[in-house]
Order: sequence, then C-alpha cells, then structure tokens
Amino acid sequence: MSKKQCSICSAIDSDSNPVFSKKGLFICRDCQNRYGADSIDDFISRFDVVSNDDDICDIGIDFSKTSPKVLKATLDEYVIGQDEAKKLLSVAVYNHYKRILYKNYDDGDDVEIAKSNILLLGPTGSGKTLMAQTFAKFLNVPIAISDATSLTQAGYVGEDVENILTRLYQAADYDIKRTEMGIVFIDEIDKIARVGENRSITRDVSGEGVQQALLKIIEGSIVNISPQGGRKHPHQEFVQINTENILFICGGAFDGLNDIIKRRLGGNMLGFNSDKRIIDNNVNYFHLVDSSDLMNYGMIPELIGRLHVVATLNEINQDAMLNILLKPKNSLIKQYQKIFQLDNVELEFEEKALRLIAQKAIERKTGARALRAIMESLMVDLMFDIKDYSGYKLVVTADFVSDNKPPMLIKKSSKSVKKQKNN
Ligand code: ADP
Repeated sequence: MSKKQCSICSAIDSDSNPVFSKKGLFICRDCQNRYGADSIDDFISRFDVVSNDDDICDIGIDFSKTSPKVLKATLDEYVIGQDEAKKLLSVAVYNHYKRILYKNYDDGDDVEIAKSNILLLGPTGSGKTLMAQTFAKFLNVPIAISDATSLTQAGYVGEDVENILTRLYQAADYDIKRTEMGIVFIDEIDKIARVGENRSITRDVSGEGVQQALLKIIEGSIVNISPQGGRKHPHQEFVQINTENILFICGGAFDGLNDIIKRRLGGNMLGFNSDKRIIDNNVNYFHLVDSSDLMNYGMIPELIGRLHVVATLNEINQDAMLNILLKPKNSLIKQYQKIFQLDNVELEFEEKALRLIAQKAIERKTGARALRAIMESLMVDLMFDIKDYSGYKLVVTADFVSDNKPPMLIKKSSKSVKKQKNN
C-alpha cells in the first residue's frame, strides 16, 4: 500500500513528520505547524476547506483538498512575493476547476458559470510561468507552455496555434480527457499586439491574425489536432480536442503599456469632475490597467474580453532576489547544497556573497531568470574540484563572488581551515 502523502508539500508519512488525514485531506505535521494549525480539524476550519469525499471530481482533481487559500499557500512555497497576483490567481484557478465540477454535477438549474481565462502582466523573470507550472503540478493537470512569438496565422511559415494543443495532448500522455482539463500558458502575448500608430513593432505576419486564431481556441471550441506519435490513437489522422475546459493563462511584459495607462490617467485631469491624478513618472501603474489600455496597446477587444482575470506582477528587487535564492522549497541554494552534500561537502554562502549574486542578477535585467546562469558559472570550478572538498565545509565568500578569490574551507570534524591555492 502506498504511504500517505501531504496534499500541500507532498511529504511522505514518517515518524518524524506524520501525515494526518481526514475525509480525503492529507496534511503533514510540518505544514500544520507552518500554517499555525493545532490539528487537522483546526486546519480544515481555518482554511475553509470543504472536506467531503463526494467532491472527488471525475477529472481527478480532489476538491476536498483544495481551496483558494490552500492554492495560495502552495504558491507561497515556490513563488516569492507577488502576493496580489498569487491571490487573484488562486481564486481564478479554484473557480475554474469548480466550474468544471459544477458542470459535471449539473443540478438542473440554468445558471451557467462562464469561463475565466487569465492575463498576467509583469516583467520577464518575475514568476509568471512559475505560477502556472506550480498550479499544474499541485493540481496534477497537464501543462503546455508556448511562446506567442513562434505562432503564426494558419498557412504562414511558423507554428500553427493548434500546435499548442498538440503539446498539451503530449503532456497529458495522449489522454484526451486529461488534455481537455489542462493548463495552457502562452508567454509573450504582448509581442503579437496589433501594430498601432503609436508603436513600432515590426512583424512579418500581422499579430492580429494570430490573436484571432488564439481567440478561437481560448473561447472554447472543438479543434482538430494531429496526434503526432500518440500511442493511444495511432491510426487516427486527427484527434478532436474540446478547449471549453482548458485554462488559458497568457503572460507578457507589455513594455510601453505603463505610458499608455499614464496617458489615460493623466488625460482625465482635463475634464470637469474628472478623477484627478498626479502622474509620477517613476511609478508603475500596471495595477490600474483597464481594457482600453490593452486595446490601445494593440490587443484585439475580443481576446481581452476572454481574459477576465488580469493580475500584475512586480519587478524583482534585490531583497526579493535574495529570497528567491534562499526561500523557495527547491531554491537554487538548496539545490546546490544538495549536490555538494552528495559528495560529503557542506556548502555555505556568506550573506554578503548572496547579496552580490542578487545584485549581479538585477544588472542583467532579466528578472530572477538570471540567477541560474550566474550561479552555474560561479559554481562550475567548485563542482569540478568537488572531490577535493569532501569532508569539508565550503564557504562561498563575497571575495569569491566578486574577485574569484578562493572560498573558505573548514574541515568538518576539526575547526582547521584548509589553505587554498589561487587558480
Ligand atoms: P516569467 O515571468 O518571464 O514567466 P518565470 O516564471 O519563467 O518568469 O521565471 C524564471 C525563473 O526565475 C523561474 O524558473 C524561477 O526559478 C525564478 N523566479 C522568477 N520569479 C520568481 C519568484 N517570484 N519567486 C521565485 N522564483 C522566481
């Protein structure tokens, strides 16, 4: 029999961290403590978890274990900051899957809950894709991540919009039902904006055509895709996918959108009885975006109309960068510590060293995305010599980060410091 597993952190039931269960919900002691709950009953009442075995949806998502608060708590473990976006997204994702559940258990009234897709506005490397991935993993639904810039209108050279669904179908292991409950993340949606008078994006193929093609699949339709290697339908030329229940999350940095919002807000000052606002040029007004701004940016109104939930993410500052290095459950620092530990090396970082790494990442202007590359080039020599450090504590110092001076080595059993040669 498989062991009980925590619904939040996936910890396996053990003596040191037992997993408690009640009516389909599994919570380990560490997670109970982390969320300030004394018992599983306390956890259920604090987080308004509806705990009922009958709520197991036949799509495989267990609603007895899920609530917007639980979803947000899951995001908190992996995504630093971005609190408002995390909250909005948790509610939207919860409602999306609840809507499917509700449809499956049709109670006979005529109320139909409309589908809400999501638009995430925020700089590159601020956590947009990470949030979508975290949800998909937690909810155990397939996810396909696509880049809008690679898409073209049907008939042009490039990728057809339908290929997004083919990828989702592959991620669902060629299971049509699972595909139809999946998440599609479309990045760089801003790059297919219609070329407006005020903007000078050059695209061979009009972005508007791609937006129209995307609209078709986002609004919910039956799309024929080619199974491309699907083992379950080997002889079929096409597989039909109904996109009605697929959750579409679009993301983009929307460079220049801030100016459009500011123009609208500032413009209001001219009229009588207007909502007067002093515009500060250094402030990001993304949180005040409305659909007219997105239209001015070059998004077609029909597509904006399908992306009901708009959440904005902030640029990653130095403190957030530092937290991203350290805090997420699978943070880069934890990963490197694990890699070194496997060779009996205790890896430690001076706080000043971490701050320098965070600063270097900020300078690259690609958000937290820069951290991995910086860490890889920083650690490669240490990893090359890893066997030499076995049995030692290796301290990555600020001098090592800034001037490639040798790191500090401390013998684990004694307190002696090993002298290192400069390369
Ligand atoms: P984008 O906003 O461009 O979609 P991603 O979500 O792909 O950015 O982020 C790139 C990488 O940077 C992620 O894999 C993750 O490691 C890190 N990252 C970005 N933002 C955050 C965040 N808020 N918290 C934790 N990690 C983050």
